[in-house]
Amino acid sequence: MLMKREITISPQKGTAFELYKGERVKVIDLEGGQVADLLAFRQGEPEEKLSTGVTIDNNGSLYLKKGDLIYSNRYNPLLLIVEDTVEGHDLLHPPCSPEMYRFQYNIRDNHPSCYMNFVESLKEYGIDESLITTPFNIFMNTRVASDGSVEVKEPLSVAGDYIILEAQADLIVAVTACSVEESACNSYRCTAIGLEIYQKL
Ligand SMILES: [Zn+2]
Repeated sequence: MLMKREITISPQKGTAFELYKGERVKVIDLEGGQVADLLAFRQGEPEEKLSTGVTIDNNGSLYLKKGDLIYSNRYNPLLLIVEDTVEGHDLLHPPCSPEMYRFQYNIRDNHPSCYMNFVESLKEYGIDESLITTPFNIFMNTRVASDGSVEVKEPLSVAGDYIILEAQADLIVAVTACSVEESACNSYRCTAIGLEIYQKL
């Protein structure tokens, strides 16, 4: 595979980029124990976007693995999981936001958040804040018990673990290095996320 672009997302930051059909993005946990939230929108028609609900519906599972597809709100495949060294990701939680930090932690100052990082990075592509939805939370280790209770544990990912996603349509993709340092979500410390974008084979 020929690498087209390499991006390092600094801790508590985010980015957005074009990913054309057949191109691949490798999302790397550089230091281990760090979550990366990911959103995807159809180019030119961002009202069609990644849907975690449809993805759970079509895969019949809360957990994704190699070979699974990530779907849009219109039931079209957007991304294929080509490789996955962790197989522990989350489809349930919203991006962390200023409101979440207030509600969960009583933090009222300007805490960095995945939500605000999505807002900023998607602006460049004309994608409005109102289209931000529940992301695919890569490396986020959410465990659901048989009674329905939900617990977020430290990620299973260690330094160098990654997932490779192949675009099934022309997309705008946004990725963040999650900003939560107050819980096990990112192992109580925020670190960087690596991205490698590969040309179509
Ligand atoms: Zn976050």
